[in-house]
Amino acid sequence: MTRLAIRGGTVVAESGALRADLIIEDGLIEAIVEPGDGSVDEEIDSTGLLVLPGGVDVHTHMDSPSGKGHTTDTHLTGTRAAAAGGTTTVVDFAPQSAGETLPALAERWSEKMAGECAIDYSFHATVSSWYDGITDDMGRLVDAGISSFKVYMAYKGAVMIDDGQLFQVLSASAEFGSRVCIHAENGDVIDVIADRLVSEGKVAPRYHLPARPGLTEAEAVHRALVIAELTGGYPYLVHMSAAESLDHIRRAKERGVPVVAETCTHYLTLDQSVYDSDDFDVARYVLTPPIKSQRDRDCLWGGIADGTLSIVSSDHCPLCLVGQKDLGKGDFRDIPNGGPGVENRVLVLFSEGVAQNRITLERFVEIVSTEPARAFGLYPKKGVIAQGSDADLLILDPNGMTDISASAQYQNVDYNLWEGWELKGKINKVLSRGVVVASDGEYVGPAGHGEFIPRKAVAR
Ligand SMILES: [Zn+2]
Repeated sequence: MTRLAIRGGTVVAESGALRADLIIEDGLIEAIVEPGDGSVDEEIDSTGLLVLPGGVDVHTHMDSPSGKGHTTDTHLTGTRAAAAGGTTTVVDFAPQSAGETLPALAERWSEKMAGECAIDYSFHATVSSWYDGITDDMGRLVDAGISSFKVYMAYKGAVMIDDGQLFQVLSASAEFGSRVCIHAENGDVIDVIADRLVSEGKVAPRYHLPARPGLTEAEAVHRALVIAELTGGYPYLVHMSAAESLDHIRRAKERGVPVVAETCTHYLTLDQSVYDSDDFDVARYVLTPPIKSQRDRDCLWGGIADGTLSIVSSDHCPLCLVGQKDLGKGDFRDIPNGGPGVENRVLVLFSEGVAQNRITLERFVEIVSTEPARAFGLYPKKGVIAQGSDADLLILDPNGMTDISASAQYQNVDYNLWEGWELKGKINKVLSRGVVVASDGEYVGPAGHGEFIPRKAVAR
């Protein structure tokens, strides 16, 4: 097999950034060597560029129902978009159908993703349709390498579970060492607030924001963490958006709760002024939880810096404005919730985080790659440049520029949350197990290259 070297770049390894070359063989990083060392068959010149572990995005919804809509990226188009944007592993959400057992769900989603993905993949199994023995089935999935689950504390009458069920899922999490992704929002309260707004004639998309105040998130965060503490389970808080939530996370960590918390690209880079219009076009920002104030955004960056938040995901949930979001033209409650971002996460965070001096290059690598790999049993195969790890690499030009436009994206959706932004940084190449899958912003990988990655449980 061809031996490949990546030469001349600045490598961010676990010990930090260093001038080094990488030697790759059989899809693995064989060695990190002094510049110029090692004989190889082929070389990639990375002079002046950053050589980073490929992005790991643990929060995507591809080919999936979302309210009255259905996400528009298939696993084929969505993972191509991910690859073009510097991500080399996705952990997608598999949505449980009514009456479906978890093993049946796992089989269905495995078949759906197999042969489709441009990059390596796994999925979390959603627990939303309760049946006797469901928590025993969680153990069966963990044994099969599907070591994490998803529950919703919102969307009553659809996917929401109650506190007793949450207690049981987190008890099973303690038993099996599996992580549970929790959508923490108080669904009961939100439904009442939303109904009141509509009864007052407030039906435009902008009312998505006041329907879901930050405290409805913070209350659910607190409740979930207390229930986790009662059980010894492993909670993962998805899409933290509100400053009020962070204190609850800090206090739970102090009490020894093994919580890991995530925020998303859009909460760190946009603010609630996106809702300041009566236009229906505001529906592009109807994603959940809604984007909060500048103060919340600053607090979230603070949470990234101090470790309260350790992962930034995309929550890629692409729904078209035309034909999907417009179902809610007369009532914001009917707008399918979600926004795209798997293609933009890495570069938007580099530009807004590293280039703006909000975080170091090393912290950037942790939040987009290393920590998500650690939290979900992918490390050290993924998420790190180290001897023996998969050669999943992002080669990035820190001095390049990238313009964002829906017209030029791989994401199969009719808008982009960062339309018109000019980002600092440009993706030069993306490698998956030593194979170049993207070059100069173009997806160039072999079809169906991605493989299912069985994941370890967190406590095994
Ligand atoms: Zn989501």
